Amino acid sequence: MIQLKNVMKQYDNGVIAIKDLSLTVDAGEFVYLIGSSGAGKSTFIKMLYHELTPSEGTITVGKHDFAKMGPKDVPMFRRELGVVFQDFKLLPRLTVYENVAYAMEVIETPDDEIKPRVLHVLKLVGLEQKLRRFPSELSGGEQQRVAIARAIVNDPQVVIADEPTGNLDPETSEGIMEILERINGDGTTVIMATHNREIVNGHPHRLLEIAGGRLIRDEQGGSYGNEA
Ligand code: ADP
Repeated sequence: MIQLKNVMKQYDNGVIAIKDLSLTVDAGEFVYLIGSSGAGKSTFIKMLYHELTPSEGTITVGKHDFAKMGPKDVPMFRRELGVVFQDFKLLPRLTVYENVAYAMEVIETPDDEIKPRVLHVLKLVGLEQKLRRFPSELSGGEQQRVAIARAIVNDPQVVIADEPTGNLDPETSEGIMEILERINGDGTTVIMATHNREIVNGHPHRLLEIAGGRLIRDEQGGSYGNEA
C-alpha cells in the first residue's frame, strides 16, 4: 500500500530531515509514528501526502509512484488519501456540513451524491445534530471530528493524521482514537504521528520511531517508553 525506498529529504537550507528511510505499510494497517521534536515526523508525513517531495529515493502510495506523478495526477491522488491535522484546519466561514461537502465538491462529485454521503460521515463521527454550526461554535474535539469526517468523505484508502490529539484533553483524545480505530476496522490504512503516550500504550498498534531522520524502531504493538 505504502512503500518508501531509500528516501532522503534535504531542505534548501541544507538540513537533512530524513536519511535513507525504507519502509512498507500494508493495506489495512494502523501505524503510529513517534519521535521527539525535530526528529523528522512532519517531514515524513508531508512527503506521504505529497506536500513535500523527497530529494532522493522513491515513495509509492497505492498505485501512485510519486516520481511518475504529474500535476494532473495530484487531485486523484489526494482523493485516495485523507489528512487530519493537529489544528483541524477547518474553513471558518463554512458550517460543519459545508466543510465536509466542500471536500467532495473540489473533486467534482455529482451533486446528488454529496448530501447523503456528507450526512453519513457526520453521523459516523456523531455530529449529525450540529450540521449548521460554524467551527467557532464547536469544542476542539468536535472540530477534530469534523476534520475526520472531511478526511474520510471521499472514502480514501489511507488516512494520515498528524498529531490529531495534540490539542485535546485525554477524554476527548480517547473519543478521537476510537473513531480512527473504527475507520481502520473498515479497512482504511491509518498512519498517525503522535506524542500521546497514553494513547499509544492504551491502543497498541505497529509503532515506528524516528530519531535524527532515521527509523530506529519498528515494532508490532510497541510501547511508548521514556526514551521517545
Ligand atoms: P518533527 O515533526 O519530528 O518535529 P520536522 O520534520 O519538523 O520534525 O523537522 C526535522 C528537521 O528538519 C529539523 O531539524 C527541522 O529544523 C528541519 N526542518 C523542518 N522544516 C524545515 C524547513 N521548511 N526548512 C528547513 N529545515 C526544516
